[in-house]
Amino acid sequence: MKMASAPAAPVHLLFLLALALAATAAAAVTFEAINAVPDSAGGQRFDQDFGGVEYAKQVLSEASSFIWTTFNEPSPEDRPGYDSVTLTLVDNIQPGAVAVTSGNAIQLGAQSVAEINGDADTVKEAVNGVLYHEATHVWQWGLQDYGKKSGLFEGIADYVRLKAGLPAGNWGQPGEGNQWDQGYDVTAYFLDYCDSLKPGFVAEMNGKLKDGYSDDYFVQILGKSADELWSDYKAKYSS
Ligand SMILES: [Zn+2]
Repeated sequence: MKMASAPAAPVHLLFLLALALAATAAAAVTFEAINAVPDSAGGQRFDQDFGGVEYAKQVLSEASSFIWTTFNEPSPEDRPGYDSVTLTLVDNIQPGAVAVTSGNAIQLGAQSVAEINGDADTVKEAVNGVLYHEATHVWQWGLQDYGKKSGLFEGIADYVRLKAGLPAGNWGQPGEGNQWDQGYDVTAYFLDYCDSLKPGFVAEMNGKLKDGYSDDYFVQILGKSADELWSDYKAKYSS
């Protein structure tokens, strides 16, 4: 308080102070991880091959920074106002699901970790990819309209995973799929195409989604509807 009112403080000092305050605000987000099933096959693999809760916290932190950069949201006021992100390794989530995220709480199914084929590096890469996807659900805007356009929100989460260099082994190829809002890898590759037309497209789309989903966002950002862009995209890969 005193520094701010001191008349003689050099401008560059005030600038440094502002930077320090910004850094403090960013560091205010804490990352937690809990292995609730340490004795299960997946729980043991999580601890031994993946790297356990300490490594998980580090990945959540790195993923969040990556997402904030991808969404062009450098300051906390731009983002959903969570001050923590928590991962819990659990025994049972929805049948067939690898992980689920609600608000700032991510649940990872221990069974899906147990079922990963491969060595410790494979486990790390696979779980990292899942955590980048789920952490995107924590930080993305517009989930009040998830039911209206789930494929877009899942596509954005896999787009982040793609840009982080962590695509899953079972993903298809760019250009595949039947419709732009099919979700997951199909929509992720389509969004990557849109972003190639106008770098920052996905960040802009995410920002607009704060007000809920509208078909018109594609026209507003790229001058074409999603269906027109999808036709262009399919034509590009049809040769
Ligand atoms: Zn998802």
